[in-house]
Amino acid sequence: MLYLDNNATTPIDPEVLEAMLPYLKEEYGNPSSRHYTLATNAEKAVEHARELVASLIHAEPKEIIFTAGASESNNFVLKGVTDYAKYYGSGKNHVITSKVEHKSILQTCKFLDGEAFDSRTLNKVTSKFLKTVPKLPKVDRGFEVSYLGVNPNSQVEPELFATVIKENSLIASFMWANNETGAINDIPALVKIAKEHDILMHSDATQAAGKLDIDVKEVPLDFMSFSAHKLYGPKGIGACYIHQDILPYKITSLIHGGQQEFGYRAGTLSVHNIVGFGKACEIAKRDMEKNIASLKALEKEAKSILASKYEGIQFLADSCKHIPGVICAIVPGIINEILIKKLSEKVAISSGSACGIGEPSYVIKEMNNRLSTNNFLRISFNKYIDDLEDLSLI
Ligand code: PMP
Repeated sequence: MLYLDNNATTPIDPEVLEAMLPYLKEEYGNPSSRHYTLATNAEKAVEHARELVASLIHAEPKEIIFTAGASESNNFVLKGVTDYAKYYGSGKNHVITSKVEHKSILQTCKFLDGEAFDSRTLNKVTSKFLKTVPKLPKVDRGFEVSYLGVNPNSQVEPELFATVIKENSLIASFMWANNETGAINDIPALVKIAKEHDILMHSDATQAAGKLDIDVKEVPLDFMSFSAHKLYGPKGIGACYIHQDILPYKITSLIHGGQQEFGYRAGTLSVHNIVGFGKACEIAKRDMEKNIASLKALEKEAKSILASKYEGIQFLADSCKHIPGVICAIVPGIINEILIKKLSEKVAISSGSACGIGEPSYVIKEMNNRLSTNNFLRISFNKYIDDLEDLSLI
């Protein structure tokens, strides 16, 4: 199987699995328990992992909160900051984002601006199992959201961001790199504008962390989300970076209960996953240059194979800065869902984000509404691929 859907998830690195196994076997202590060795070993392992995760993005360990993944981190930041502002803040209630963010940002924003939101109505797969989906009236949660359009490369134009900022703007959230196109936003420029207007800034860096050298000391954003399973780590674990100037205020806790994760997220820590995440970040940092070079080479070779097979193929977000190893193509003459099913045993590719399951790509439509989403293919590589022979099956 030639697995080319690495923006959806990556295979686990054997070194990561190796590091995790003791914490699923003999080292099963709860890191929040006190004094005995099993507990302190677990606590040390978690704190070491926190250092490794922080180091990947040049943060301080205390600025890292472990979550169950980037969807959770995104929810935490937007709901936590707006909730805090509502009750203790300056009365600011305006949120700014873009139309091509991941669903975990877009749906959280819809929740905030009062849409009677029930994700079951959005998911054809889950709604099959539901007899009735309740129709709820719109509610007033007291927030207003601006959704910015993007340029034909799926990037947010900083000038446009500046024009929508108002007196009551509280936080902006723009992804570092797009999950469907790989295009990189000019986050330094966007952060600069946010800071000039005293707005909090969050970035969903799920597709960028581990693939680009992100330095939160150089780009002083307030919050950032990322996830282990996009960088050869386990699923179900991610992080929220919170700039130390924000700590310990300006954001409401995500899960109330025990004092884990500095009180922001209660619940017994998933030690094996945290250890795996730490190891994955350590490896990503160690091998970043090498991985970037091999992903770029794969991308180049694959584009030339596809271009020789499909006359008129269009590579989107290709001329702009994009994360290495992602091809976003409009392929004339195909129907993506049919092709993906036909290839399913041999090649794994995708027609967009896994979280937009069943829906055509809204990202492509926002880039250029004349493009046909049926012709859209996303191909994303990983560091283990060294043979593209089966690509000719596409
Ligand atoms: N943001 C982006 C840009 C993503 O690509 C993804 C994963 N598809 C997420 C958020 C959600 O990450 P997780 O699976 O860790 O919840």
